[in-house]
Amino acid sequence: MLITCPYCGPRDVSEFAYQGDGNRTRPDPASTDGDAWHAYVYERLNPAGPHNEIWQHAGGCRAHLAVIRDTVTHEVSSVRFARDHGAPAHVRRKSGAKA
Ligand SMILES: [Zn+2]
Repeated sequence: MLITCPYCGPRDVSEFAYQGDGNRTRPDPASTDGDAWHAYVYERLNPAGPHNEIWQHAGGCRAHLAVIRDTVTHEVSSVRFARDHGAPAHVRRKSGAKA
């Protein structure tokens, strides 16, 4: 499987680290809504088909990427910088981008 990093170009998946489901939205840190925190921490989508995922180019430029990958065929249909496209806040902080 190849992932095309916007900085580095097409690279083997072995250079990348899966960072999780790209569909999660972190609740406000001041929130005490237990259901919202439970959903954020424990609930994951597991679709058979296209899935929004966060990957880090750990063996390259270290950028966090928002990837749409088909979980059945492993076809990657979209790769964008996660910081520009709704990555979870904890991923944005790791990449050094401003929250
Ligand atoms: Zn890269």
